[in-house]
Amino acid sequence: MAVLFQQITIIGVGLIGGSLARAARAKGLCAEFVGCGRDKAHLQQAIDLGVIDRFETDISRAVEKADLVVVGAPVGAMGAIFNQIKRCVREDAIITDVGSSKQSVVEDAVRAFGELPEGFVPGHPIAGTEKSGVAASFAELFENRCTILTPTASSSSWAIDKLSKLWKGVGAEVVCMDAAHHDEVLAATSHIPHVLAFALVDTLGRMQESKEIFKYAAGGFRDFTRIASSDPEMWRDICLHNSDAIVHVLQLFRKELDTLEEAIKEKDSDGIKTILQRAKHLRDTNVLV
Ligand code: NAP
Repeated sequence: MAVLFQQITIIGVGLIGGSLARAARAKGLCAEFVGCGRDKAHLQQAIDLGVIDRFETDISRAVEKADLVVVGAPVGAMGAIFNQIKRCVREDAIITDVGSSKQSVVEDAVRAFGELPEGFVPGHPIAGTEKSGVAASFAELFENRCTILTPTASSSSWAIDKLSKLWKGVGAEVVCMDAAHHDEVLAATSHIPHVLAFALVDTLGRMQESKEIFKYAAGGFRDFTRIASSDPEMWRDICLHNSDAIVHVLQLFRKELDTLEEAIKEKDSDGIKTILQRAKHLRDTNVLV
C-alpha cells in the first residue's frame, strides 16, 4: 500500500495506539512512528516490541514534525494533551484520537484550541480487548471491525478522507456520525455492558460465599464478566465523560430488571418466558458472532 503519512506521533502507546501503529507499519502506511507518554519504560518497551521507531517525552518535540497525531490516552487525559500540543502541531497536521466518548473529546478540544483546526477529526475504533498496555497490542485488532469518525463542523474533507484511508488500510470499515449520536449508541452497546460486568463481579465478590462463587464460575460467568478485567482508570473516565447517555440506558435497564424480578418473584412463567424469548430472538437475529 502507498505511504500515507511521513510521521505518525502516537500520544499514549497502549493497546489501541500500539495496535494502530503495528497495523499501519505492517501495511506500509507510514514512514516513521514516534511515541509519547508519561512513562519512559513503557515507551522503551514499545521500541523493543517494534511498535514505534523512537519516542520523545517532550510532547512538543513529539508532535512538531508529525503529519498525523493520534491521541491514544484515556478520555480524561485528552484536555491536558490538547492544551500541550495546540501551539506545536503543524498547521497541516491531522489530529485525531481513539477515545471511547466523543462529545467530551470535542468539548476538550474546543476549550484547548478555541477555533478547531481543520485537521481535527475525532475517531473511535470499535475494537478492543480487556487487556491494556503496548504488550497487549496487535496488528490485526482492527480487521473487519468498524471505526467511527465524528468530524466537527471545522473538519475538512481532505483530513476526513486521509484519516479514513488509514483506518481502511488497517482493515476497518469507516462510518461517520455525529458525536452525540455516537455517545448514545456506544453507551448502549459498550459502556453499559462494561458497567454491568463490573457491578456484577463487585456484587458477587462482596458476598460471603464469594470464594465458592468464583471457584465454581462456569462459562456463563466467564463470558459475561470477561470485560470486568478491563482497566478501571480508563472505564472510570468513560463513565465520567459519557455519564448522561450511560445513566439514561441504566435507568431503562433498571426498569426491565424490576419487571423480570417481579415475574420471578411471582413465579409468572409466561412473564419470564416472554422476556427471555424476546431477548433471545433479538440477539439471534441482530448480533453477529
Ligand atoms: P491503554 O492500553 O491503557 O493505553 C493508554 C495509553 O495512554 C498508555 O500508553 C499510557 O501510557 C497513556 N496514558 C495514560 N494516561 C495518560 C495521561 N494522563 N496522559 C498521557 N498519556 C497517558 O489503553 P487503551 O485500551 O489503548 O485505551 C486508549 C484509549 O482508547 C482510551 O481513550 C479508550 O477509551 C479508547 N478505546 C479503548 C478500547 C479498549 O477496548 N481498550 C477500545 C476502543 C477505544 P503511559 O502510562 O506510559 O503514559
